[in-house]
Amino acid sequence: MVNRRNFLKSSAAVVVGGLVANQLITSCAAPAPKKKVGLQLYSLRDAMKEDVQGTLKKVADMGYSTVETAGYNDGLIYGLAPLEFKKIVEGLGMKVTSAHLGQTYSKEKEVEVMEWWKKACGAHATLGVKYMVQPFMPVNDQTTIEDIKMYCDYFNSVGFETAASGGIAFGYHNHSFEFRKIGDKLIYDYMLENTSPNHVFFEMDVYWLQEGGQSPAEYIKKYDGRFPVLHIKDEKEIGVSGKMDFKPIFDAAYSKGLKEYYVEVEQYTNNDPFASVKQSYDFLAKAEYVK
Ligand code: MG
Repeated sequence: MVNRRNFLKSSAAVVVGGLVANQLITSCAAPAPKKKVGLQLYSLRDAMKEDVQGTLKKVADMGYSTVETAGYNDGLIYGLAPLEFKKIVEGLGMKVTSAHLGQTYSKEKEVEVMEWWKKACGAHATLGVKYMVQPFMPVNDQTTIEDIKMYCDYFNSVGFETAASGGIAFGYHNHSFEFRKIGDKLIYDYMLENTSPNHVFFEMDVYWLQEGGQSPAEYIKKYDGRFPVLHIKDEKEIGVSGKMDFKPIFDAAYSKGLKEYYVEVEQYTNNDPFASVKQSYDFLAKAEYVK
C-alpha cells in the first residue's frame, strides 16, 4: 500500500535517479551540434584563383557549412560550370547559398545590363543559391539623390528578375560610403526606403556599417525584416580588433529572423588568409551568443 511516507520516498528515489541519469547524459553527451557558419570566399580570393578544390576542402575542414561566392564571370563560377562548382562544394559537405556579382547601370545600357542579369540568373539557379547580392554601386561627391533613386529602381528591376527567372532573392551589400548624407538623408536610409521589400533585401556588412558611424543592431531593429543575411566582418580576423561588439548584433539579428551570415576577412594579421579565416570560425564557434 502506498502511504504518503512511502510515496515521498519513492518520489525522492525517482528524483535522485533522474539526477543521476541527467548527470550521466551530461557527461556522455555528444558535442553541441555544429553551428552553421558561412564564409564569403573573397576572404580567400588569391587561393581561390590558384586551387578551387583544395581551397574549398580547407574551408570545409575548418568547420564552415556554407559559402558565398565572389567569382562570377560570363556564366562561370571561379572558371567552372556552375554545376561542377556546386558538386565540389556539396561533395565536401557544404552548400553554396549566396553569390556576389553585379553591374553598374546607366539608362543607355539598360537592355545589355538586364540581359547580363538574365544569364547570371540561369547560372546561379543551377548553382542553387538562395541569394544573389550586388556588393557595390558608384557613389562620389557629385552623386545626387536622383542617381541613388535610379539605382533603387534598377535594384528593384534586378530583384524582380532574379525572383522571376531563378527563384532567387536579390540583395545589396554596403560598404561605408552609403552612410554619407545627400541633403539631410543618409544614402543607405534612402535606399532602404526606396526599394521594394519584396524585391530587394540588404546584406548588412556590420563592420562597414559601423565604420560609417552607425550601429548595426539599431539598424536591424529599425528596418525590421530587411536584413535576413549579414556579413560578419571585423577590421581583420573576427573578434580581434576590439572595435566590434558582435553580441548585440547577433541578438538583434536572431530576433528579426536572421537566415544566413557569412564571415568575411579582408586583411590578415600574419599575412596568412587561411589562419585568419580559421581563427574567425573558432571565435564564432566559441561565442555563446552565436547559435
Ligand atoms: Mg562585406
